[in-house]
Amino acid sequence: MEFSEQFDVVVVGAGHAGCEASVAAARMGLKTALVTLSVDLIAQMSCNPAVGGIAKGHLVREIDALGGVMGEVTDAVGIQFRLLNTSRGPAVWSPRAQCDKAQYRVKMREVLWCERNLAIVEAEVADVLLEEVPGTKYQVPSGRKAIGIKLRDGRSIGAGAVIITTGTFLNGLIHCGEQTHPAGRSGEPPSQLLGESLKLLGLRGTRLKTGTPPRLDGRTIDWSKFAAQPGDSEPTPFSFRTRSIQQKQVSCYIAFTSDETHRIIRENVHRSPMYSGQIKSIGPRYCPSIEDKIVKFPDKLTHQLFLEPEGLNTDEVYVNGMSTSLPVDVQLAMIASVAGLENAKMLRPGYAIEYDAIDPTELERTLETKKIAGLYLAGQINGTSGYEEAAAQGIMAGINAALKLKGEPPLVLDRTEAYIAILIDDLISKGTNEPYRMFTSRAEFRLHLRIDNADRRLTPHGRRVGMIADADWAEFEAKQERRRRIADVLEKTRSAGQSLAQMLKRPEVTIEQQRPELEQAYPEFFQRAETDASIRAAIIRNELKAVETEIKYAGYLAQQEKAIERLKKSEQRHIPEWFDYATVSGLSREMKEKLAHVQPRTLGQASRIPGVTPAAVSLVNVFIEIQGRRRRDQGATVPA
Ligand code: FAD
Repeated sequence: MEFSEQFDVVVVGAGHAGCEASVAAARMGLKTALVTLSVDLIAQMSCNPAVGGIAKGHLVREIDALGGVMGEVTDAVGIQFRLLNTSRGPAVWSPRAQCDKAQYRVKMREVLWCERNLAIVEAEVADVLLEEVPGTKYQVPSGRKAIGIKLRDGRSIGAGAVIITTGTFLNGLIHCGEQTHPAGRSGEPPSQLLGESLKLLGLRGTRLKTGTPPRLDGRTIDWSKFAAQPGDSEPTPFSFRTRSIQQKQVSCYIAFTSDETHRIIRENVHRSPMYSGQIKSIGPRYCPSIEDKIVKFPDKLTHQLFLEPEGLNTDEVYVNGMSTSLPVDVQLAMIASVAGLENAKMLRPGYAIEYDAIDPTELERTLETKKIAGLYLAGQINGTSGYEEAAAQGIMAGINAALKLKGEPPLVLDRTEAYIAILIDDLISKGTNEPYRMFTSRAEFRLHLRIDNADRRLTPHGRRVGMIADADWAEFEAKQERRRRIADVLEKTRSAGQSLAQMLKRPEVTIEQQRPELEQAYPEFFQRAETDASIRAAIIRNELKAVETEIKYAGYLAQQEKAIERLKKSEQRHIPEWFDYATVSGLSREMKEKLAHVQPRTLGQASRIPGVTPAAVSLVNVFIEIQGRRRRDQGATVPA
């Protein structure tokens, strides 16, 4: 086949997944192309201008620890930082930042342009080009391999691996009241050619829906009517490499729906495509539309809204909490019914969008499709919602495509070491019939998966695969040494017959109170080279806090460590050949069929069968004992 150009890796789409995937492949030394519909809209935030939030902030920290870019870009353009959940334990603290949306695009583009091995191409991808793998028959699914892409303009580009990250664009259809029109998101065309050609590849598809609220002209809002919600006075950056937050910081504002808002919505709900039957696909359960909230919670008298600025040089305001696909006239009435928004002008209406996604059980753990070698999928196309979930998949697809081309073993993270692993594991083993969103409750061992130790968990992996530069690695190692020294000082320094570490275990004692002793025993830690005093103070504070957490929760952490060991051991547990799934009570027919069909050799293997749930695996674990005992009682020889 004639190619106009040949790359190692071609990434289709420059949203949050595509940016991470292309930077990863390029940083790992591969000649990479990022092909996207519009260079100006690289890293566009399709919905709210914010990064992070509960569990999503953990994902961003993990991406950063692996050497990804979302954290640094957010730190550079964040205009309001808040550390969420601080009234609860450190496992669930999570950073969130309101971003300057236009600057986010500019900054991300800058990062991409600086990558030596990365070419950016503005074009529409129409098809994925496949080749028969020698020795297998063409059209036998496992015998196909991606070798490049075809553009709408007729050019073909060759690639060792193709990563598709097309978000909501595949056969996208926007709904606003009774009106519908094909689009990838507001103001952009849908991807119909690629949507149709992916269907022909034989990958199981599904159709999902998401929605966005109206945007207002901030100059027409009566701000005096709302309580301001400022950011933290000491912003928590996302990136381990960020030295300080330079941007001017602004507030968000809290508003409330009124009786009148609820009446308007109730009277017009039949005009919402969600309720008229016009939209059949399923939307994100955890970002419901305002009409959904009114219908599902009829007793709730008011709903909170957040008025979020979209940037420093714009008056555009995002109405968080008012996602809707009601017709424009209803949206206008709804807005005017909120105290303080009586005269507010709507800049853009809210809308819903339906789009094609691929069933993620079609994917390997590396995000490569099972049926087509060298074809990877990442982001919203795999049934997730959210920038962070998309970026997390992007970096893993980019790293694994690069590793495969280099002939190196894949990077497959374990559920016990990263939310990224939980995300991918959930997707590929269970699939999803609604847009998937990350929560801390999805983690089995969340005290281990904190934002403060994401670098310890993942930076060594990032370094191994070539994502962490020498200087950053040196800083990582120096930080670990500092941590060990502080812990050592706390162990060895005694006061009133106890070590400082023992005292720190008491809930009312903080490491800040122990600063004088620490300063005396380890003065170099406090006399760091940074010239900026506030940067120095922030680094010291964060590093001390991380040590404090490890010491305060040492008991729980050790317990979890043991549980992780047990889990890993049980994963290796052998499933005997005589094991009979049919007689396992409590196992659904679907699970029985799947397990009997695959006949996994270990519990770990069983857990990786698409659709087999952790609950089913624990049942099998218990029944290995029960059936073994029965067989022994019946006189059979049962291997240990
Ligand atoms: P995107 O960011 O969508 O990027 C897709 C990229 O693919 C674009 O760069 C596009 O140009 C490119 N592309 C598409 N087709 C082609 C082609 N044929 N050739 C070349 N390039 C192509 N998430 C939430 O968590 N909560 C919400 O409430 C929410 N609401 C949303 C509402 C709307 C209306 C939309 C559109 C999205 C919403 N999201 C929401 C989702 C969030 O925006 C996405 O999850 C995230 O942006 C997905 O990132 P991605 O990289 O997968 O795709």
